[in-house]
Amino acid sequence: MSFLSSIFGGGSAPSKPARPMPSNIKIHPQVDNGFPPARAGFSGGTLTCHCKTNPVKVKISAQSAHNHVCGCTKCWKPKGAVFSQIAVVPREAVQVIANGDKLQIVNPAAPIQRYACKDCGVHMYGRIENTEHPLYGLDFIHTELSDEQGWSPPEFAAFVSSIIESGYDPSKMGAVRSRLRDLGLEPYDALSPPIMDLIATHAAKKSGALPA
Ligand SMILES: [Zn+2]
Ligand SMILES: [Zn+2]
Repeated sequence: MSFLSSIFGGGSAPSKPARPMPSNIKIHPQVDNGFPPARAGFSGGTLTCHCKTNPVKVKISAQSAHNHVCGCTKCWKPKGAVFSQIAVVPREAVQVIANGDKLQIVNPAAPIQRYACKDCGVHMYGRIENTEHPLYGLDFIHTELSDEQGWSPPEFAAFVSSIIESGYDPSKMGAVRSRLRDLGLEPYDALSPPIMDLIATHAAKKSGALPA
């Protein structure tokens, strides 16, 4: 099984409550009140930045995979959100269809080149150009930028401890992890175990520790 098919043929999401109990611990506006399951046959939509005029539009012609909330300080998040929400799609499925001249790379030296709108700051997609990178071939997108319903739902929470780096009160981390579990989003302090296993397998095949 190829790396990409192992990513996209991946396991099923954990079951989650349809409508979670309200909580004063906020995670992200797209998950705080529960979220719908993926729609069968869903094959993408259009991401639009937050500009009122001449918004950047990016067409995604695939269902997302590994959607999750992320606590790192690099992913774009809407104002006031503690976590971002982010997923991957094959890079061939990503096409800028309007106002691409407004895009600029946030940090060209970073492994993931995040293309952001110069005017509103929203990240439209993140791309890996290093063909040796274990996640090469996948672009990172924020499905909340699309009006279409049916994207794969968030499945876990990544880099949870990193929200402290953005100033979150460390004494509330127990409550945050508990809330994430209530939402069906298992909290991890790196990526999810299946993705960490894929990255480690990639490294082992490169080093020769496992047969290529
Ligand atoms: Zn914009
Ligand atoms: Zn992140």
